[in-house]
Amino acid sequence: MHIHSTCSDGSFTPREIVELARIKGLKAIAIADHDTVEGVAEAVAAGEESGIEVVPAVELSIENEHEKDFFELHLLGYLIDHQDRELNDILNRIVQARIEQKIRQIKVLQDDGIDVPVEEVFSLVRGVPGRPHIAKVVMRRNPGRFASQKELFAEYLTVGGKAYAKRSFSLTLAEAIRVIVKAGGVPVLAHPGAYDKVKDIEAVIRRAQEIGLQGLEIAYTYNKNRPHYGIAPTEMQAVMARFRAVADELGLVKTGGSDFHGEGKDIEVGEMGMSCVEFQELKARSSFAVPPDQS
Ligand code: AMP
Ligand code: ZN
Ligand code: FE
Ligand code: FE
Repeated sequence: MHIHSTCSDGSFTPREIVELARIKGLKAIAIADHDTVEGVAEAVAAGEESGIEVVPAVELSIENEHEKDFFELHLLGYLIDHQDRELNDILNRIVQARIEQKIRQIKVLQDDGIDVPVEEVFSLVRGVPGRPHIAKVVMRRNPGRFASQKELFAEYLTVGGKAYAKRSFSLTLAEAIRVIVKAGGVPVLAHPGAYDKVKDIEAVIRRAQEIGLQGLEIAYTYNKNRPHYGIAPTEMQAVMARFRAVADELGLVKTGGSDFHGEGKDIEVGEMGMSCVEFQELKARSSFAVPPDQS
């Protein structure tokens, strides 16, 4: 219930993802690209052909708010009306700001003597450009310059890095929650255990609930994603148990997702999914989803 396609920084098209899900025998998946719903229609159509329910979703990158301890948060919006006018207008503005931001970031790298042509980065982009697109070209064109993509991010692309750049337009958490709810969707905080820049994540979750957050992503491929790459299964269970307890205490819905991006990460579609009961609870919160008795 949390998959990226070629419309953001994933390596499979929406149609290919539905086919992977069919082969795995999954009942439902969600396409949740970064700041775009461009892949949703293709996936829904493919899903109808192969009998897989495709949940329209999006993963919004949220503006940092230092005084609230909100750093690099990702908000999932599930069961949205992906044709909602206001949502689409806002996403278009975000994409424009991302394009302009990525060009600025590339220029900083170029000024430091790194070979990274703007056109080559954008040739990898079907919808929304992200730092991974830049990283791919840098790693390919500058062998030996960085020991790994991790070093490249640490030196240049992460918050505070030499080529880190703020976007001229992005949504605060409150604005993002409002837009998702207005589009009929359910706002869910993605991977709460993965925010290494946040000091007190539980306080952040409470603050977010006060402004309308409705869910928390519990099951997640923490061991295959930053910053917990490679943690042991017991540690991973502990992270998830901690947030399950927070969700239960606060009455937030619990979701699960793979964060599948395709090649490059050893993650499979359908890993860390959610139960039918949890899915029904999510649907009950959406004003756009087909009611459970009709689905
Ligand atoms: P952007 O959408 O441009 O903000 O880029 C965000 C994406 O960059 C994330 O979804 C990650 O896939 C990747 N990313 C962010 N920080 C790092 C990092 N320190 N190391 C590797 N990948 C990262
Ligand atoms: Zn991504
Ligand atoms: Fe994310
Ligand atoms: Fe994601």
